[in-house]
Parts: sequence; structure tokens; C-alpha cells
Amino acid sequence: MNRAQRTRLTGWANTAPTGAEVSRPDDVEELAGSLGLDAPRGLIARGLGRSYGDPAQNAGGLVVDATRVSGITDLDITGGRVTALAGTSLDDLMRWLVPLGWFVPVTPGTRQVTVGGAIASDIHGKNHHKAGSWCDAVEAITIVTPAHGRRRITPADDPELFWATAGGMGLTGVILDATFRLNRIETSLLSVDTDRTPDLDTTLALLEHGDADYEYSVAWLDLMAKGTSMGRSILGRGRFATLDELSARQRRHPLAFHSTTLATAPKVVPPRLINPLTIRAFNEAWFRKAPKRARGQIHGITEFFHPLDLVDRWNRLYGRTGIVQWQFVIPLDAVDELRTIIGELSASGHPSFLTVLKRMGPSNPGPLSFPIEGWTLTFDVPAHGAALGPLLDRLDRRVVESGGRIYLAKDSRMDPDLLPAMYPRLDEWLAVRRSVDPKQQIMSDLARRLRLS
Ligand SMILES: Cc1cc2nc3c(=O)[nH]c(=O)nc-3n(C[C@H](O)[C@H](O)[C@H](O)COP(=O)(O)OP(=O)(O)OC[C@H]3O[C@@H](n4cnc5c(N)ncnc54)[C@H](O)[C@@H]3O)c2cc1C
Repeated sequence: MNRAQRTRLTGWANTAPTGAEVSRPDDVEELAGSLGLDAPRGLIARGLGRSYGDPAQNAGGLVVDATRVSGITDLDITGGRVTALAGTSLDDLMRWLVPLGWFVPVTPGTRQVTVGGAIASDIHGKNHHKAGSWCDAVEAITIVTPAHGRRRITPADDPELFWATAGGMGLTGVILDATFRLNRIETSLLSVDTDRTPDLDTTLALLEHGDADYEYSVAWLDLMAKGTSMGRSILGRGRFATLDELSARQRRHPLAFHSTTLATAPKVVPPRLINPLTIRAFNEAWFRKAPKRARGQIHGITEFFHPLDLVDRWNRLYGRTGIVQWQFVIPLDAVDELRTIIGELSASGHPSFLTVLKRMGPSNPGPLSFPIEGWTLTFDVPAHGAALGPLLDRLDRRVVESGGRIYLAKDSRMDPDLLPAMYPRLDEWLAVRRSVDPKQQIMSDLARRLRLS
């Protein structure tokens, strides 16, 4: 293991930096031994740092960067089951598995997340309404906890610890590896239907009535559009294409997958590059670029799932003050509240080019797992402006009153007093955390901020 080095860390949002000793275990045995290291302020595992806020930071303590502990240790190539080390990125998994005809069960909007991070946030993707979240596909996790050491847990033999770890933000132990199911694909291309909607009502109606027909579905909202155009969107919905849907040229390498970036965002950008003027222009162009209605267009994996990955370090474009990403989910029947919230965000004028709306399917048994059956909205804006904090505080309360919650992997700012109402099974989760970590050896900035101990 490399000697721990004092490092300044942030999440992807580049807000609330804190310093920690960062160790980088070279293999799984070193990762497993992390809990034996001298760490008076506790330790937390870290993946690729793609959480927006502070779950993978530990001010003044130890952070264990698991990204060198990467690779596939077992693959059932006929049954579609893989065991991967905790630091393996989804990008690597796709580069290895897509050419073999397998795809990860769930992918977020970036491939640059690790298996450990996917479990700890119980990540969801465009297929949540059909397939659930990441941990629904996980069959076993190897985890080290302070109280019980190294154990292999499954949903059947240790449901409490398994489901407390799913979405548990790394606070139940250090994950070493996981075994999960894969999805069979005939090609690496997707057959995509696009609909450009003129307003929010049409967006909601299409999501409500059409999602069942699609494996993957999401709507990008132009939040800068006002008046009768408020909530206009581009709906992109699809599924992996079959071989016979490809052209002769595409059929030559039907499972090809290239993980590429086109550019890297510069370290220094003009101040306030992202402002209402630039984002209004960007959104207008993005909206017009999409076809009004298209059926069966063939898209690549990056184009459909991960367009942001084309620009490495795109978070720098938000400048030194960073990003606030706000994501909530509210039950399906709270659709009027959803309209009100979207209306308020739009009227506020905060410049957002990453506002995404999706209908989620049923939740899983994880007490801290974010998804519930309902509407989820992701809203991404520069972290400045005195009005932003009070606006989001007020909207947090409305979300809670509607029976909804905020996604911890994206949060950097919410009031900890709201957490028990958002996650009604919080006490159950805390009991498991205390039983596996009675001395609170596992600790993070998020855990301190939200009193998850
Ligand atoms: C552009 C972008 C798009 C995104 N889109 C989505 C999306 O569509 N859906 C979604 O659900 N999320 C999305 N996310 C969030 C992201 O998927 C999650 O935050 C994910 O957890 C990040 O994984 P990571 O490996 O970077 O983990 P980190 O951010 O480094 O850590 C996240 C959590 O995982 C824990 N952790 C990491 N490794 C281990 C380990 N070995 N053992 C125990 N705990 C561990 C950490 O302690 C921390 O609590 C997006 C993020 C970005 C930047």
C-alpha cells in the first residue's frame, strides 16, 4: 500500500473541500486490512469520487481509495454473472463485457463509477421502471466490518446487513467485491425513439403512458423555457437493438464498444461561464437539434447513456464555486406537487442544462436506498446566488410533505432534521450500522453532516 498522503478532496460538485489522509491499497488484501490502520477520526472508502457531495470525504481522518483494487475475479459467460473487485469501474466492465454480449444491469449517467460506489449509493438508471436499482441485481457482497471482520453476505443469509449496505453510503463496512447478474445483449447499439414535447403536460403524459413499452426511458427538460413552453422536453427511450435491426456495415462488429472522450475541460474557465444567457442559448440549440419525432434510430452506448463522459472533467465548467445537484423523488400520485416544483425551479431562473425527469419503479428493501415508485427530478446548477439555498430548503420541505426524499449521493446541503421523514426506516438502518460498527470507526463528512451515526 502506498503511504497515506494528505489530500484535499471534494465530490464531483467541487464544493466543501476537506483534507484527509488518503491511502491507496494495491490489492484486495490491503483493502481488507484498512480497518486495522490507525485512524483516530475514522475511515471511509472512496471510489471514483462521482458522488456530488461529501460521502467519500472524511475531514482530518482516513480515506481509502479503492480504485486500484480493480478487475473481474469470476465470470459465468453463459449464465451472465460476474464477480468484480470493488474498485472496478463500470467503464472497464463495459470494455470487457460488451464485446462478449453482456451489459451491466444498471448504468448511471456516467461510466466512471466503481462497483463499490454503485452498491453504496444503490445507483439507478434509465431502466429503473423495469429493472430496479443496482443492488437488485447483486447476489453477494464481500464486506469487512469492524465488528465481524470479512464476510460474504447475500440477501438471503444476511438480509439486514445486505440491504443496509445497499444505499448505505459506505457506512456499514468496506466492500471488497460483489457478484451480480448481467443483461444479455445481441448488439452494442440501441434502437431509440425520440419525442420532442412542447410542454410539461405532454412530457408527463408520454412518460406515464409509454414507459412500459421501453427498457430505458428518460426526459431531458428545458428548464429555461417559460410560459406555455415550460417543461418542454426531449424524451429518449429505447432498448438494445437486435442484430437484424443493424445495417450491413454495423453488423460487421455488432458488439464493438469504444470508450472515448472527445475533449478535456480546461482547468480555468471564464468566471460565470454558466449563466442564464449561455444556458438559455445552449438549451434552445439542444432542444432544436433533436428530431420532433423519430422511431428506431440507432445510437451508441455513449450517445444514449453517457454523453457527458465525452468531455472529461466537465464539472470544471462550473468554475471555482462548483455545482449544486438536487435530486428528489416523490410518489406517482404527487404529480401536482411535481408540476409546482418544476414551475418554481423554472421561474427561479437558475441556469440548468441538466434537468432530467424519470418515472421510477417500485423500491427495494434497502432502508436508505433512494428510489421509490414515483417521479424523480435531477436539477443541476452553479453553486452561487443567495437565493438558491433558501429555494432548495423550501422545496426540500415540500418534497418531504409529499412523501418524497432527496438522493444522498447527490446531496451536499440538506437539513439533517428532514432525514427521518425522508427515510422512515432510518432507525432500522442505524441499528444495523451500530451493530457492525459500534465504535464508529467508519466515518465520513456526510455521516457527520447528516448525523448518520
Ligand atoms: C455525471 C454523473 C451522472 C450521474 N448519474 C447518476 C444516475 O443516473 N443515477 C445514479 O444513481 N447516480 C448517478 N450519479 C451518481 C453516482 O452514480 C454515484 O454517486 C456513485 O456512487 C459514484 O460512484 P463512485 O465510485 O464515484 O463512488 P464515490 O463517489 O467515490 O463514493 C460514493 C459512496 O460509495 C462509497 N464507496 C465507494 N467505494 C466503496 C467501497 N469499496 N466500500 C464501501 N463503500 C464504498 C463511498 O464511501 C461513498 O459513500 C451520477 C454522477 C455523475 C458525476
